[in-house]
Amino acid sequence: MSILIKNTRILDVIEEEIKEDVDLYIEGNKISKIGKNLTCQADTLIDGRDKLVTPGFINGHTHLGMSLLRNFADDMELKTWLEDAIWPIEAKLTPEDIYWGSMLSMAEMIRSGATCFCDQYYEMDRVGDAALEIGMRGILTRGLIEDDDKDLKLEQTRALYQNYHKKGNGRLRVVPSPHAIYTCGEDYLKEIISLAKEMDGVINIHMSETIKEVEDCKKDHHMTPIQYIESIGMLDLHVIAAHCVHITEDEMDLVKNRNFYPIYNPTSNLKLASGFTPVQKMLDKGIVLGIGTDGDSSNNNQNILEEMHLASVVNKAVTMDPKAVPAMEILKMATIHGAKALGLDESIGSIEEGKLADLVIFNLNSSSFTPRNNLISALCYSAQEEDIESVLIDGEFVLKDRELTKVDYKQVLKEVQECMDQLLQR
Ligand SMILES: [Zn+2]
Repeated sequence: MSILIKNTRILDVIEEEIKEDVDLYIEGNKISKIGKNLTCQADTLIDGRDKLVTPGFINGHTHLGMSLLRNFADDMELKTWLEDAIWPIEAKLTPEDIYWGSMLSMAEMIRSGATCFCDQYYEMDRVGDAALEIGMRGILTRGLIEDDDKDLKLEQTRALYQNYHKKGNGRLRVVPSPHAIYTCGEDYLKEIISLAKEMDGVINIHMSETIKEVEDCKKDHHMTPIQYIESIGMLDLHVIAAHCVHITEDEMDLVKNRNFYPIYNPTSNLKLASGFTPVQKMLDKGIVLGIGTDGDSSNNNQNILEEMHLASVVNKAVTMDPKAVPAMEILKMATIHGAKALGLDESIGSIEEGKLADLVIFNLNSSSFTPRNNLISALCYSAQEEDIESVLIDGEFVLKDRELTKVDYKQVLKEVQECMDQLLQR
């Protein structure tokens, strides 16, 4: 299939500008040509005059199956929330529940312009199935917590890698994922590091999310969390590190030239009262960050545009500097830097010839984009998901004229409600 978008404008995150009046030719799953007055024959022709095309956004950290628990337990102290509300109901989730919960999360992500995710949960084969069906790109990571089933969980990670890695025309990846340093002991972490080395050398972990995690680590290991993971060899890998709220300056210096990529989750940090991630300080050190929604229990949605907006404004207030974390920096976090954080920047994250066609088409005939002043500002500060007309992943429409093309959205909502009704009776 080929698509030609004529006379449009694109967000160029490499040159950090909006390119006006260009044509975009998509052939198969790739961006084949970008230029003026292209005359390629295409199966689908799109008049791009009132549109803006951006790279697909990347949700660098989430727990997709948790959309079932959206608005189920909120405004609680973390320990009570986990022990009395979340963990008891999570224990009753079936693979089918996780399939439909993940499907709903993916529908939400696509509708807000996300084309790729990094998910940590369980029953990950069903998450993979949902991604294959709805057409999304993503990294599947089975969350590893050390308990009586610790070896079984490693086996599940191996099986997931065998059955789902590079499936869906290469859209899916599988990465080992210790939940956190406080839920896995040192020997188990070392086993997971070895497993990651057998696979693609990538690992996904929650890192320095709370003050308690940092204080406990200092008590147990006489080191800060990132010093600790360095001491056990984890920094030899490509590390996708969710949160890093309490990363210290010394730790920033330790990771700035390594393959260590913090994923910033502003809503989750605010809602769980974890603290304020020092985003501008990390940017000043040259650290590449991605952005994520985290799960629906701590957000309570998967709207990546909302996250981008919040990420910028919160950091201005916290640093008392309106120049901190500007719009372009946020757009890079959600695209090319997010791709680099997930180890996928060779193939996605920017609109360049030869890259995969994961694209978002915004309709500019909306109040968010009127008047058409600075479109980079508009994307970060005023764009709403309703402005997203279409989304392409791997050269295929997954959203067209605001309708999901591969699944029935109403059916997804219905199935999720039914899963929850049954869950409450279990
Ligand atoms: Zn998380």
